[in-house]
Amino acid sequence: MKQKTEVLIIGGGVVGTAIARELSKYRLDVILVEKEADVCTGTSKANTALLHAGFNADVNTLKGKLNVRGNELYHQLEKELDVPIKWIGALVVAKKESDMDKLEELLENGQQNGVPDLEIIERKELFELEPNLNPDSIAALYAPTAGIVNPFELTVAFAENAVENGVEVLLESEVLDIEEQDDYKLVRTAQGDIEAELVINAAGLYSDKLANMVGSDDFEITPRKGEYYLYDKKLDIDVNHTIFPVPTEVSKGIVITPTDEANLLIGPNVEEVEDKSDLANTREGLDKVMRGAQETISDLGMNGVIKEFSGLRAAIKETEDFLIEASEKVRGFINVVGIQSPGLASAPAIAEMVVEIVKDEYGQLELDTDFNSDHQGIPRFRHMSHQERAKLVEQNEDYGEIICRCESVTKGEIIDAIRGPIGARTVNAVKRRVRPGAGRCQGGFCEPKVVDILAEELGIEQTEVKLEGKDSQLLIEPAKESLQKGVIDSE
Ligand SMILES: Cc1cc2nc3c(=O)[nH]c(=O)nc-3n(C[C@H](O)[C@H](O)[C@H](O)COP(=O)(O)OP(=O)(O)OC[C@H]3O[C@@H](n4cnc5c(N)ncnc54)[C@H](O)[C@@H]3O)c2cc1C
Repeated sequence: MKQKTEVLIIGGGVVGTAIARELSKYRLDVILVEKEADVCTGTSKANTALLHAGFNADVNTLKGKLNVRGNELYHQLEKELDVPIKWIGALVVAKKESDMDKLEELLENGQQNGVPDLEIIERKELFELEPNLNPDSIAALYAPTAGIVNPFELTVAFAENAVENGVEVLLESEVLDIEEQDDYKLVRTAQGDIEAELVINAAGLYSDKLANMVGSDDFEITPRKGEYYLYDKKLDIDVNHTIFPVPTEVSKGIVITPTDEANLLIGPNVEEVEDKSDLANTREGLDKVMRGAQETISDLGMNGVIKEFSGLRAAIKETEDFLIEASEKVRGFINVVGIQSPGLASAPAIAEMVVEIVKDEYGQLELDTDFNSDHQGIPRFRHMSHQERAKLVEQNEDYGEIICRCESVTKGEIIDAIRGPIGARTVNAVKRRVRPGAGRCQGGFCEPKVVDILAEELGIEQTEVKLEGKDSQLLIEPAKESLQKGVIDSE
């Protein structure tokens, strides 16, 4: 059946979902289409998860302008969306006298961008903040307004709050083609056609392909890989801030940072790749990450590493900046593209900017007085006191059944994830929302249980449960049958 909408957003990353939520403040029909089986499966799921303070990007760029505003907006959003942010601050550490000029340059650039409370601190204060730094560290730029966030919870919260305010999110709905009609675009998706008056292209790495469909072909996206090591929470090297080395012309360097869940994360390197789906980790890339981190804290090594992963930056090489504008060639088509770092930090500011462009294109928008800014997240059993846990279990005994022992995730939280406004349909979608499998054993113990709960909740066979997207079924026959066969075979 053909659907009609006033605005169609393509892409369910942090940018598309933040735009959807911002547009849901107005009386407007909005549909968001995402090609995968969940939101937050592209670049938004694999990055350093920093809410940068905003001293890096040049003052004359969109990145420079939007980063600081985005960072500011997150103070309100963390309360509204129930997504905790740790405002731990960032340090750029100098190791030689010649680095000091670069610190001064960053300080000045940050001040021009409007970053508050930036200062250069001396060695003594630096070691009070970070005692485990290598002894050759001499000073640092300190940016107390930098934060860390869980990008999965954030993106899901943007999307779910948009849905709570009337936006329709269609998953597994890849846009295959866009045809221009007289006063609308006919968007052909894997789930049927949609007539849209305005199309917003927030398709990340594939946004050039989408733009090409309507002849808005004036930019090209180059994928740039960044690789990471993630450490177990029980690591005996404490890091309190996000720590950068002094940046080079091409990179911010290898970052060392705690995550929102108190793991330690190191990375990313920078490697241009040809294939937009090439997320393979490489020996060379990971070695660069480890060597880079050891230049800042030499005690770091492979001990305690629980996972490696990589993400792909969607870069426009000609400008190295975001491109956010109504296409000059194609009426009713807005590009929100080239959103590499600091795209996560800037997302709420990008959304504000896009709403202004929509107003220019569409005419003044009427505010929806029923807009509800508050989204209720899923209880976080792992962070609760004994009393809070007891109260929760009293309400529903599913919160008393631990499924993931590493991360203390309960059956109740997993069921909440599946029954949410954008319910998890895959094992990874559950993991992104409530963390079973994100801990030390990486799902070794809990994954079969998560498969069981998904099958039961969705009314499907265990063999139909997928890890992520198409063709990613985990089992070829029910687990119990395999176990029984194993017993019989070994007799
Ligand atoms: C290594 C690395 C480190 C980073 N670190 C940081 C950081 O610390 N702080 C920060 O602020 N930023 C950081 N970033 C940048 C940040 O992650 C991105 O700017 C942000 O995630 C981009 O979001 P997006 O929504 O534009 O893209 P995506 O998350 O990629 O979303 C685009 C979506 O479009 C969908 N899509 C594509 N084609 C179609 C189609 N035809 N039909 C329907 N849907 C489609 C995709 O499936 C995808 O879900 C980093 C990026 C990388 C790679």
